[in-house]
Amino acid sequence: MNGYGGNVLRLNLSTGEVKVQPLGVEMAREWIGQRGFIAKILWDELKPGIDPLGPDNKLVMSTGPLAGTLVPAGGKVSFGAKSPATGIYGESCMGGHIAAEMKYAGYDVIILEGAAAKPSYLYIEDDKVEIRDAAHVWGKGAMQAEKALKDELGEDFQICTIGPAGEKLVKYACISHDFGRQAGRTGMGTVMGSKNIKAIAICGSKSIPLADMTTAVAKGKEMLKGCFAKENLDEWQDYGTAGVPVWANKIGAFPTKNFQSSYLEGNEALDGKIMREKMVINDKGCFGCPSPCGKYCYVKEYDVYTEGPEYETTALIAGSCVFTDIEQVGYMNYLCDEMGLDTISAGNVIGFAMECFEKGIITTEQVGREIKFGDVDSFKFLAEQITTRQGIGNVLAEGVKYAAEQFGRGSTNFAIQIKGLEWSGYESRSAPSNMLAYMTCDLGAHHSRAWSVTHDMAVGRKVLEGKAQKVVELQHIRPFFDLIGCCRLQWVEIGFELEHYPEIFRYITGFDYSQDDLMKISEKVWNLTRAFAWREIEDYGRKYDYPPARFYEEAVTSGPNAGDTLTKEALEYLLDDYYNLRGWNKNGLPTREKLEQMGLGFVVQELQGLSRKL
Ligand code: SF4
Repeated sequence: MNGYGGNVLRLNLSTGEVKVQPLGVEMAREWIGQRGFIAKILWDELKPGIDPLGPDNKLVMSTGPLAGTLVPAGGKVSFGAKSPATGIYGESCMGGHIAAEMKYAGYDVIILEGAAAKPSYLYIEDDKVEIRDAAHVWGKGAMQAEKALKDELGEDFQICTIGPAGEKLVKYACISHDFGRQAGRTGMGTVMGSKNIKAIAICGSKSIPLADMTTAVAKGKEMLKGCFAKENLDEWQDYGTAGVPVWANKIGAFPTKNFQSSYLEGNEALDGKIMREKMVINDKGCFGCPSPCGKYCYVKEYDVYTEGPEYETTALIAGSCVFTDIEQVGYMNYLCDEMGLDTISAGNVIGFAMECFEKGIITTEQVGREIKFGDVDSFKFLAEQITTRQGIGNVLAEGVKYAAEQFGRGSTNFAIQIKGLEWSGYESRSAPSNMLAYMTCDLGAHHSRAWSVTHDMAVGRKVLEGKAQKVVELQHIRPFFDLIGCCRLQWVEIGFELEHYPEIFRYITGFDYSQDDLMKISEKVWNLTRAFAWREIEDYGRKYDYPPARFYEEAVTSGPNAGDTLTKEALEYLLDDYYNLRGWNKNGLPTREKLEQMGLGFVVQELQGLSRKL
């Protein structure tokens, strides 16, 4: 099949059975790849109401048709499952080199079913697939385990791992790869840990057939040249997302002190230039990337090597927990990466705990020591307690929503999450469209599906009209990259034009889709994942889309947007407008007409079977 590895590898970890099944042209044509495959497989194969950490959940690893080809930055893979963090559709994307390797081994999708009886790892070398003993790497840090398996299997293997947090089923454990790349969000490392799988090691030697080899090669070269010609390429490469914290602070969007403010005093010290001078050893990129944004660092003060910290990590660790020393942030990033914690959720949860302690909601007796904002030892202590599920860490390991429900005393108002997923790195009381993007993201409070702070700045921060339209548009474009197996940052950050992708997609796959056709498929997946949540939760809908009360009851405390808040009325207006544009009902649920129009008749049937009122 042109553009595809052509196969689905299915492993039943309970029985040890390994099956290779053809992907099928219809599956490829209808769902494109990666996130599309994951959503369809999870819909078809998961029974509603299963335990996300039980053997009935499935961990689906999938990449797209452009991955592993000559398309610039075609190195993305996603993991999906019912999320233990949110109880709804979960998915997280990762760069590195394993997506390409997976295709070279002949697989577009790997499905892990059941659970292994003992710690294991998967060995995949083309058609040779084995479930191997992982006792010797169990308990090791995520990067240590990757190194140990590389030493054992050889450099040709691309390996993803979990850290101790995944083994201990911390709800926001990530999957790591390439010594610092992570599929961080929605607890995909937790699901991998629940299956007793420490690592997946892949080595492939097959080629990927292309529909029109000559034109695809020419177009690939043109795209590469186009990326190299972009004016801001050098700056992006020099700093990557580490250049963003100072900008985000200046405009009042940097989440500070558990989102009390959007401005961190002293944030200039987190600048990418300072990070480069103090810590960066080398630039590091994913497969085929013309603009490597990874920064491989040595943190001298703590004598550790780490990739990053990139923007989101800095926002949640430095901003939310109040640090202005980039080496300290680098060290805490290293700790989280080795433990296998998603830095976004970990920074958010720890910032929340620090605020609870400051307000006397939790005490020295409960925590076991004093904790405070801006203190590395406090952060380290809590990260270790969480990872090992000791003391208060056992509560915090469940995520900020659960912790707030346990702590009470008004703390749910400042547990910064939506749908149970901790908020990523933009304080958005002064950015209504970005707030709406978080509110309506299918995963919970995450920026990956739509990010529109610059749109709010361009058209006016107080303006509400037209904001929903922008969010809907972005929620189709950005996840489109998660269908095809490519990084979106060339489009987002260096301004590489979107229209190149549908064109090369045709030369690679032979599917004659226009850009509009591909956006329609992206919209179809969007409707499917919303329906997935409704299938899981009977009373799902609008009430799951609200942000925590802090954002509409408390004003920003400092910085350029001090005094700003978003009223509940504004949030209602944004949701009404958004649901209307999506063709959903007032409760934010897809209608029968919308689902049928999207070709999701099978969803209608199943929801009706569960007595959902369509
Ligand atoms: Fe990877 Fe960054 Fe390049 Fe994207 S821009 S492919 S994340 S190195």
